[in-house]
Amino acid sequence: MKTQYHINDKGFYGDFGGAYIPELLHSNVEELLQNYKTVLNDDKFKEELKTLLRDYVGRPSPLYYSNRLSQKYGAQIYLKREDLNHTGAHKINNTIGQILLAKHLNKKRIIAETGAGQHGVATATVCALLGLPCIVYMGETDIKRQAPNVEKMRLLGAEVRPALSGSKTLKDATNEAIRDWINNPEDTYYIIGSVVGPHPYPDMVAQFQSVISEEIKQQLKEKTGNENPDYVIACIGGGSNAAGAFYHFIDEPSVKLIAAEAAGKGIDTNHTAASISIGTTGIIHGSKTLMMQTSDGQIVEPYSISAGLDYPGVGPMHAHLAETGRVKVIAITDSDALSAGYELCKLEGIIPALESAHALACLNHISFKEDDVVVINLSGRGDKDLETYTKHLPHGKQN
Ligand SMILES: *Cc1c(COP(=O)(O)O)cnc(C)c1O
Repeated sequence: MKTQYHINDKGFYGDFGGAYIPELLHSNVEELLQNYKTVLNDDKFKEELKTLLRDYVGRPSPLYYSNRLSQKYGAQIYLKREDLNHTGAHKINNTIGQILLAKHLNKKRIIAETGAGQHGVATATVCALLGLPCIVYMGETDIKRQAPNVEKMRLLGAEVRPALSGSKTLKDATNEAIRDWINNPEDTYYIIGSVVGPHPYPDMVAQFQSVISEEIKQQLKEKTGNENPDYVIACIGGGSNAAGAFYHFIDEPSVKLIAAEAAGKGIDTNHTAASISIGTTGIIHGSKTLMMQTSDGQIVEPYSISAGLDYPGVGPMHAHLAETGRVKVIAITDSDALSAGYELCKLEGIIPALESAHALACLNHISFKEDDVVVINLSGRGDKDLETYTKHLPHGKQN
C-alpha cells in the first residue's frame, strides 16, 4: 500500500496530529473545521488571496540560480527567495491567508501568539491592512529580548500583551492566547503562525504556504524544462516554510526532501531545539507530535541561536514525514549555521535569516552529482540577525 502523507479526516498524518483541546475550545475549532475547506476553495476567496499575494506581498518570489554556490558545491543550486517578501520572510503567506479567512467568517477581532515576534509582526501587518484590531500575546521575557519587533507591532497598531506566567516565553504566550479565544468565541479569530496547533491549523497553514512549491514547479519548468528538482532543502522550526516548500513534491518520490532542524550547541547537549532528532511523542499546542520533554512529560525549554527555530515541538506533518523516511532530517549546530550565513553574504551578496542559514548549512552534509538540481528555501532575510552575525564574527576578522 502507498504511504499516505496527507491528513485523514480526523486531522492525522499517520500517528501524528489530531485536535487535543479543552472542551471549552471545542466550538471555536469546530467552526473553523466546518468552514475552512469551503472558504479556501471559494473562487472569490482565491482571487482575493492571489491579488494580495501578488500586489502586497510581491509574489511570485524569484527562483534565483546561485552561480557561486553551484560552483562551490558541485551542483545546480537555486534559492527560493522568500526573503524578498513584504516583511522579509514567508510568514506573511500564512497571515494573509488566515486574515482573509477571518474576514470571510465575519470575525471582528484578531489574536495571535508570538515568540521572537516575527509572527506577531506578520499578523499586525495584515490586521493593519484589513483594519482589524490585533492583540498579540508575547512572553514578558521575549518582549525584553525582542524589543525591535515589539516596537514594529505597536507601530502597526497592534496591542502587545505580556504573558507573565511560567518561563514567560512562547508556551506561556500560547496559553494566554488560548484563554482569550475561549473567552471570546463569537467574534475572535486566532491566527496560528506555523503548521502546529490542533487540526485544522496544520493542514490550513500548509495549504497557505504551498504557494512556495507551486511557484518552484513553474519556475523550474521554465528554467530547466523539468518541474521537479533532485533536492528541496528547508529549515524547520514549527515547519511552515518547509511544509510550503515540500508540499507539491511530497508525492513525487524522485524529489529528495531535506529538513534542517536546529541542533543549537549540539543534540547531545542540553542546549538544543532538535525536536525530531531527540524528541518523543507527546501532546503540545493541541496536537500529537514529536516534542522535547522530560520522562514525566514536562516540556524542555529549547535553545537555538535562531529565534524562529527555538521551539520545543514540530508540526505533526513533519513528525510523520520524518518517521516514514520521506524527509531526511539533518541537525545543524549554531556554529555551522553561522558559517553558512557568512558564506552566503560573501558569495552572493545576500544576508540570510539565521533560520534559513540552517538550510544552507545542509550543503556540507550531502554529496551531490554535478547535474543535481537543488532548491534551497531561503525563508527570510537576515536584517533582524545583524547583531548576532556581528557578535560572532571571528575576532578582528573581516568576513
Ligand atoms: C519563523 C521563521 C522560521 C521558522 O518557522 P517555520 O514555521 O518552521 O517556517 C524560519 N525562517 C524564518 C525566516 C522565520 O521567520
